Amino acid sequence: MATVTRESHLKENPYDVARTQLRRVADTFGIDESLVRVLERCKKGVVVSIPTRMDDGRMEVFEGYRVQHNVARGPSKGGIRYHPDVTLDEVRALAMWMTWKCALTGIPFGGAKGGIACDPKAMSKGELERMTRRYASEIVNEIGPEVDIPAPDVNTNAETMAWIFDTYSMNKGHPVLGIVTGKPLDIGGSLGREEATSRGAFFAVRETLKKLDRSFDGLIGVVQGFGNVGSYLALFLHEQGAKVIGISDSAVALHNEKGIDIPAAFAWKREHGTLRGFSGAEEIDAAELLELDCDLLAPCALEQVITAENAARIRATIICEGANGPVTPEADEILEQRGVLVLPDILANAGGVVVSYFEWVQGLQQYFWSEQEVDSRLDAIITRAFEETWQLHEKRELPLRVAAYGLAVQRVANATTIRGIYP
Ligand code: NAD
Repeated sequence: MATVTRESHLKENPYDVARTQLRRVADTFGIDESLVRVLERCKKGVVVSIPTRMDDGRMEVFEGYRVQHNVARGPSKGGIRYHPDVTLDEVRALAMWMTWKCALTGIPFGGAKGGIACDPKAMSKGELERMTRRYASEIVNEIGPEVDIPAPDVNTNAETMAWIFDTYSMNKGHPVLGIVTGKPLDIGGSLGREEATSRGAFFAVRETLKKLDRSFDGLIGVVQGFGNVGSYLALFLHEQGAKVIGISDSAVALHNEKGIDIPAAFAWKREHGTLRGFSGAEEIDAAELLELDCDLLAPCALEQVITAENAARIRATIICEGANGPVTPEADEILEQRGVLVLPDILANAGGVVVSYFEWVQGLQQYFWSEQEVDSRLDAIITRAFEETWQLHEKRELPLRVAAYGLAVQRVANATTIRGIYP
């Protein structure tokens, strides 16, 4: 297997983290223990080996995963991640979070996730394409438009989805539009999908500000991660009058107290693939970025960046989890005690899967919507999920995470009970 020796960003086992969150919610809402035992496990997981011919003629063998957590409410759905630190347990945790996200937003999917342990930044486009096509072939019997529908995640994008769409369709002998979402527009993608996760996060922040009787005007924001989710979120915040004083990617963290020119940073990142070299802000330590004095902190990179170690030093009053799992359960408790409002991942970044659902529906119907239709339906779903979460948070004096997970887990538990356990 291709091994990468570097320090993982995962300090704790993410699957343990996801199960701890589930247990806490189950205790709070009195969910039957036998159901919890069903929900804390993943329905299915495959580990595949992916031999890939590299450009220099060498054969590299990567390890890939596809995990389906729960399908009580519909076919499973979830992204595919390429990263050196990907592990089976990380994919399991991400699959579980997808189940809750779909249930919270009321879309008829269960949760899944996939990943390949690889270093995509060190690979050529040809190598990535061959690895992706072999991975898609290895999981061809696990996925399907009525079974399990992949999408992009960290280091994968519309092009990756095009390769999977083509590989699957070649295997079936006809185009299968519903097999993946996040496809390029020319082959059945949805308008608004690329920005959807950030647009959803933006709607969640907008609703939070309304509750707090605040506005975007003059709001000070910091965004960690400047990929698909972070870059668009920074742009939307900037467009609404917020002052984004800190941004970062895996190469560099940047700070400018007067506010960063986000459209210029966005254009720089698109052109150069990195924030390194962007002028108009000062380079700071990556850890320092999270501790900047601001109103809104949006971690939009990877898991476990806010932990028991740094939670007490976070100065933001609102945290918007653009990434999945950026705050550990221990950090959650510290933030709770300090009165920091955490907009949980399953609500804050649900916009991506909601518009993926729209893309899937459009593909199945071969009938495509306008961007305005996509955005306004997304707005309605996120606003409703936010409102339901907020009401429960107020009524039972629960942190937003526990309220959101409580709603979601109960919906999945109900679906499981109504269907019954087969046979
Ligand atoms: P991406 O690959 O487009 O971007 C990731 C960004 O994070 C890159 O800019 C990368 O340089 C940066 N990064 C990586 N390590 C970092 C570090 N240590 N410090 C600072 N920046 C770092 O990925 P994405 O699709 O934007 O996904 C980001 C997060 O959002 C992930 O947790 C993903 O699961 C979650 N998410 C994505 C979607 C989606 O639709 N793409 C939907 C829901 C949730």
